[in-house]
Amino acid sequence: MTELTKQKKLYEGKAKKVFSTEDPAFVIVSYKDDATAFDGEKKGTIRGKGAVNNQMSNYLMGILERDGIPTHVVKELNERETVVKNVEIIPLEVIIRNVSAGSFSAHYGVEEGIEFKEPTFEFSYKNDELHDPLLNTSHALALGLATKEEIETIKAYALKTNELLQRFFKECNVRLIDFKLEFGRLPDGTIVLADEISPDTCRFWDAETGEKLDKDRFRRDLGGVEDAYAEMMRRVFGS
Ligand code: UDP
Repeated sequence: MTELTKQKKLYEGKAKKVFSTEDPAFVIVSYKDDATAFDGEKKGTIRGKGAVNNQMSNYLMGILERDGIPTHVVKELNERETVVKNVEIIPLEVIIRNVSAGSFSAHYGVEEGIEFKEPTFEFSYKNDELHDPLLNTSHALALGLATKEEIETIKAYALKTNELLQRFFKECNVRLIDFKLEFGRLPDGTIVLADEISPDTCRFWDAETGEKLDKDRFRRDLGGVEDAYAEMMRRVFGS
C-alpha cells in the first residue's frame, strides 16, 4: 500500500480527529490531548495523552488481532496518528466490568472494588443528546442499531477481549476494572473492533496499591493525571 496522507478533516470529536485519505477505504485518526468528562461538562488537557492513547491502543489491538479479534487498525504513522479502516460505527458502547466502579456502583448502590465472579456485559446507546442511555439487546434490536447476529458477534468479541486484556494486564501488575469498546462494520458487513483501548476508556488500578492509573484521576480531580498515563505507558511497553 502506498503511504496514505491526511486529506480533509471529516470529523472532530472530544478526543480525536478523523481525516480522509487518498483511499476511501481508509481514514487517519489523530489523537488529541483534550479531555472531557461528565458529558463534556468538564474540559481540560492531559499533556501527552494523545500519544499515549494512540500507541497503547494500537499495541493492545495488535495483541487482540493475533488472537482472532479483527480490529480497524492498519498502520501507526507517528506518535499520534494511525491509519485505520473506514468503518461505519455501530452506535453501541459495549461495557465490560470485572470489578464494581463508576456508574455501576452509583446505579446499584455498592462500593467500588467488589470483584465479580463473572464479568458483566452492558450496552449504552451512543448518543450524546440522550446522554448515552443504558439499553438492552431487545432495545438495540427494536431501534435497528444492529442485527441479532451482529450483537452475538460483538458480545463474543467483547468477552474474548476481556480475557485477553486481563491476562495481559496481570503481567503489567495492573487490575483491569472495566472498559468500553466500540465496534464498526466494514462495507462487506464484517464486524471489527474500532475506536480505542486506553486509559480514557478503561479503568486501571495498580495491582498492589490500588492506585488509579486512568482517566478517573482527571474526572475526580485526583492530580497526577499525566503521570498516571505515562506510568501506564511504561507498564504496557515495559520500560
Ligand atoms: N467509558 C468510556 N466512555 C464513556 C463511558 C464510559 O470510555 O462514554 C468507560 C469508562 O472509562 C470506564 C467504563 O467505560 O472504564 C465504565 O464506565 P462507567 O459506566 O462506570 O461510567 P463513568 O463512571 O465513567 O461515567
